[in-house]
Formats: sequence, structure tokens, C-alpha cells
Amino acid sequence: MNQLCYCNSDKVFEKCCQPIILGFKNATSAEECMRSRYSAYVLGEVDYLLNSTFPSQRRYYSKSEIKAWSQENTWQKLEIIFSSFDIIEFKAYYLDKSNKQIIHHEKSKFKNENNFWYFYSGEVF
Ligand SMILES: [Zn+2]
Repeated sequence: MNQLCYCNSDKVFEKCCQPIILGFKNATSAEECMRSRYSAYVLGEVDYLLNSTFPSQRRYYSKSEIKAWSQENTWQKLEIIFSSFDIIEFKAYYLDKSNKQIIHHEKSKFKNENNFWYFYSGEVF
């Protein structure tokens, strides 16, 4: 049976976020970029998470911190609250390492450069 995508798109993973995470296909919108980044968190795909962060912003993130955050939490679901050309507001539901339910509510800004969508910055509520 095909794995449904972790981003809750109701598509199968191989036709949704997987080709984007593996670099076979570019995200075609900020929302696709956001969804693929959520799936990358679920899977601990740290290289993709850094590569899809806008180059000038990467210095604010460390590979080890991203890896720890992606792995110590149990990711439950993604809910897109608002989606526009370059702003996506979402809620990511997860259990933290002490099994506490967390809802991470963020409004993220994305930028497109050379036909590649990048996460630029996020405002966490
Ligand atoms: Zn997906």
C-alpha cells in the first residue's frame, strides 16, 4: 500500500513531497515548499531542510539543532491555515519528548529565486 503523504495532502508520498525532498522536482509554490519541509521534519531530512532555507538565512539554523528537533518530537499532522503566493500560515501538531501535545502555529515567508522556493523567515504565535 502506498504511504499517504506526511503533509496531509491526501496524495501519496511518492507523488507529493518525496520527489521534492529528494531533489527530483522543485516545489512549484510556497505551499508545496512548506508542505515538503513539514514532511522533511517528519522524516529527519535535515539536508533538504537546510537547502530549502534561503541562503542568507541559513546561518541562523544549525544542522544538529534541526536534526534534534525533528527527531525528538512525534509529528502528528499539518494544517494549512492560510496560503498565498509567498506567505503560508500553518499549524503543526506534535508530541514533544515528554509526550506533551504541542501545536506549533507559524506564519512563514517564502522566497523564490532561480525557480526554487525557499523558506525565508517565520513568525511563531
Ligand atoms: Zn506532501
